[in-house]
Amino acid sequence: MKIIIVGAVAGGASCAARLRRLDETAEILMVERGPYVFSANCGLPYHIGGVIEKESSLLVANENTFRNQVVIKVRTRCEVIGIAPEMKTVRLRDVATGEVTTESHNKLVLSPSASTIRPPQPGIDLLGIFEVRMVPDARVIHDRFLRRRGGLDRRQREDAPAAWQRRSTCTRTRTPVTTRARG
Ligand SMILES: Cc1cc2nc3c(=O)[nH]c(=O)nc-3n(C[C@H](O)[C@H](O)[C@H](O)COP(=O)(O)OP(=O)(O)OC[C@H]3O[C@@H](n4cnc5c(N)ncnc54)[C@H](O)[C@@H]3O)c2cc1C
Repeated sequence: MKIIIVGAVAGGASCAARLRRLDETAEILMVERGPYVFSANCGLPYHIGGVIEKESSLLVANENTFRNQVVIKVRTRCEVIGIAPEMKTVRLRDVATGEVTTESHNKLVLSPSASTIRPPQPGIDLLGIFEVRMVPDARVIHDRFLRRRGGLDRRQREDAPAAWQRRSTCTRTRTPVTTRARG
């Protein structure tokens, strides 16, 4: 049994670990477009706020962890660009080199999440408006604002979450995202 999982962060990695428990002999391959596996994305706001100081603290596991501890193969910086259900194959593209290969499977799990919605607000494309979904997104904010100012001192770090909250604005769309996705 060969299983390919698309997406190797929260859903994909959890699914892979569960599958390994259910079947010790299955060949499991996780394919991830981004550079990291199983990163703690929920900690991103705390990293930006300075509470979690090191980016490495967000990286809970890597390719070696999965390979050595649970015998699961991982290909990072590799994206699925095509699925042929009748052939039971997927087409993979190496993000760095552009090389395209085909991989067969018995079962395919899709856990690619969704793309970020940028609400159609005036000014939404201005510099200084960021998306925060993955570790590299937080790095962009860090590089732009925090490192340039020499980082935060202890007092600023402690104040950061409150400061962020004071300055944040929540907006709601009229239609829930899930309804829009279905419709
Ligand atoms: C800033 C932030 C804070 C959050 N805080 C919380 C919290 O406190 N509590 C909570 O419960 N949840 C929180 N969440 C939500 C939680 O992180 C997500 O619900 C969860 O990560 C979704 O898991 P997923 O596996 O579906 O998607 P993701 O974790 O986004 O993983 C999907 C992966 O699939 C990859 N991918 C997509 N398409 C392809 C392709 N074609 N080929 C290869 N790979 C592909 C993507 O690169 C991505 O890494 C937070 C999210 C964010 C961004």
